[in-house]
Amino acid sequence: MIPVMRPLLGEEEAQAVADVVRSGWVAQGPRVAEFERAIAASVGAAHGVATSSCTTALHLALHALGIGPGDEVVVPSLSFIATANAVRYCGAVPVFADVDPMTGNLTAETVTAVRTPRTRAVLVVHQAGVPADVAAIRAACSDIPVVEDAACAMGSTWGGRPVGTGALMSAWSFHPRKLLTTGEGGMITTDDAELAARLRRLREHGMTVSAADRHAAGRNSVEEYAETAFNYRLTDIQAAMGLVQLRRLPGIVARRRELAARYTALLAPLGLPTVRDPEGGTSNFQSFWVVLPDSAPPVADVLTALAEAGVSARRGIMAAHREPAYAGHPHGPLPVTEHLTTRSLILPLHHDLTDDEQGTVVAALAAAVGLTAPSPSPSYR
Ligand SMILES: *Cc1c(COP(=O)(O)O)cnc(C)c1O
Repeated sequence: MIPVMRPLLGEEEAQAVADVVRSGWVAQGPRVAEFERAIAASVGAAHGVATSSCTTALHLALHALGIGPGDEVVVPSLSFIATANAVRYCGAVPVFADVDPMTGNLTAETVTAVRTPRTRAVLVVHQAGVPADVAAIRAACSDIPVVEDAACAMGSTWGGRPVGTGALMSAWSFHPRKLLTTGEGGMITTDDAELAARLRRLREHGMTVSAADRHAAGRNSVEEYAETAFNYRLTDIQAAMGLVQLRRLPGIVARRRELAARYTALLAPLGLPTVRDPEGGTSNFQSFWVVLPDSAPPVADVLTALAEAGVSARRGIMAAHREPAYAGHPHGPLPVTEHLTTRSLILPLHHDLTDDEQGTVVAALAAAVGLTAPSPSPSYR
């Protein structure tokens, strides 16, 4: 079976984790601090605050903004469900905005269309690594904070700079379905020192002095708990792995972009729209999606046919408003979201995918949707 995704892990990660175990300090400590500095530097932010996942990072970010009952936060429905859930964790209401048909991302227009006097923030997703035009959304919503759900976007760029640069807060994921992994893990990056300090306290029970700092101080320093907070800490075991993973990022992005370009060329004769770089940015191609024509069979049938051909594909990006957890949740029309979620699917794309395997995927897809398989051009043999 050709897997849809596979993390790139080596001996170096195993060694780094073993070193942490031998050191005797396995909870949040010096490796987490080092990982925070490394990720912040890599995305061009002043501060990084590590968390147990991107889901907890999103919750923490909204909590730090004081989002609560009676508030609305604009989010795309077309996203992993954690985006909308983070708003509900705060007791606030996620308001679903539609997306651009090419990028699958919120735009200034779709956000503006659903704003009300109760809108307190916007949560912008860089869907599947495709960078959103955050500057345009910030310009249209200059009176409220814009937070970036950059879970999938490590290594994507906008205007020649890493995604998330200069954002009030960007939330990242290190789940194995993303480009870099620590098993589970997340991070908030920000340029705001005060916000970073508050986020550090909020992720560690509201402690005024972190456990690691108390240990390092070596004498009795008593912490205070200034407010009710959370345990959303990452561990040094995970951070050690993340530090090794981060060194692999340029190679991973380059390989994914190469494979995506090859899919684009192989699929072009079929005439199916595929995900691509937006104007103004570059994607890390965390997922490679293709949109099926209305004349093609339902996506579920295509996925079954692909599985029978040894290809593990996935339905396209989910839409939160169609899940039972959001049954009855009010929302306006979401035609583009509906179309993309019902008619798109995600093809296998991982670092070690071979030319032959890509050929198998494309031929299987062509057969499943009833189109003629392209004969491979010589340059792609
Ligand atoms: C994966 C993902 C998340 C959740 O990340 P975790 O680290 O697994 O909590 C949130 N938002 C988006 C857009 C994602 O793709």
